[in-house]
Amino acid sequence: MKIICYGVIKMEESRIENWAQKNNVEVKIVHADLCAENAELAEGFDCVSSEGNLPVDASVYEKFKQYGIKQLAIRQVGVDNQDLAAAKKNGIKITNVAAYSPRAIAELGVTDAMYLLRKIGIYQDRMAHGDFTYDESTISTEIFNCTVGIIGAGHIGGASAHLYSALGAKVLACDPVYDASLEPYLTYTDFDTILAESDIISLHTPLLASTENMIDKTAFDKMKKKPILVNVARGGLVDTQALIAALKNGQISAAALDTLADETDFYNKKDMLNSLPADYKELKAMPQVLITPHIAFFTKLAVKNSIEIALNDAKTIISGGEVKSVVNL
Ligand code: NAD
Repeated sequence: MKIICYGVIKMEESRIENWAQKNNVEVKIVHADLCAENAELAEGFDCVSSEGNLPVDASVYEKFKQYGIKQLAIRQVGVDNQDLAAAKKNGIKITNVAAYSPRAIAELGVTDAMYLLRKIGIYQDRMAHGDFTYDESTISTEIFNCTVGIIGAGHIGGASAHLYSALGAKVLACDPVYDASLEPYLTYTDFDTILAESDIISLHTPLLASTENMIDKTAFDKMKKKPILVNVARGGLVDTQALIAALKNGQISAAALDTLADETDFYNKKDMLNSLPADYKELKAMPQVLITPHIAFFTKLAVKNSIEIALNDAKTIISGGEVKSVVNL
């Protein structure tokens, strides 16, 4: 059995090799993300695994079909860069890892929110200039006096609700799917109530046509408590121009962004300072904005689990078995 793994980061290499040895599977490692230009490397393999955010178009699945490949095992949750229908048309089953460690992502969101709530970035900046002062503009609020609004209470939103409720915050959530097991940690409500009543708004929906730019000018206009916006899901959920305006006019007090719309141009690349789009340069320069390079998933457990789950599912499918993780049935 032979699997080719694309988009492999340094920290994955030894873990993928260990899995391959343990499972007696031949694995080829490719560091570049899967795309039309390198799809032909998959010829001769039984299965492809990939991770990354580069858009994967129909031409890739057509090549896989020619090579007799019937599966693409994604080592991440989000499949918004895949053309699921085109893959299905070419007989390619795409699997994802629905929950490799929801806590990893939730913990970054909570850490970011606490960092911004306690104005640590502003103090860090003052300290860098030898300024030991504090004043009314940097006074904070305890988290247990905050209302946190979770938009999308799935694996990661649910884990975030656990964490915030453990810290004593009042947690609201909206999600079209009701999960009774989350009742001890949150109160279900609607999108508009979350916008109006939350001090911290945390986004955890997938990027879909129905969720793209869900936080736009209309949504910012409904935010009444100058909340902190936390986006550790996908950049495309937020209208960037509307976000900049909301930060400038004080409709929101701060924003934490682990993901940016159209980040594929600079994702995991060095020396991007000058090549960043103007709107991200503007966001980066704002003291109340915290940007991280899409690393919410980047914990030891999450990296290990994403490999094990994706490759185990790939092996099961190649061996004729069935898995629950197929996302384009
Ligand atoms: P999930 O499928 O378990 O949960 C998503 C939830 O969003 C579901 O319960 C769904 O019903 C809900 N939802 C869909 N549309 C909605 C809407 N309009 N309003 C409210 N809720 C809505 O997914 P998850 O594992 O919690 O992951 C969520 C997203 O986080 C992923 O799709 C991915 O884009 C992102 N993610 C980011 C990172 C990172 O490193 N930053 C890592 C993993 C996942």
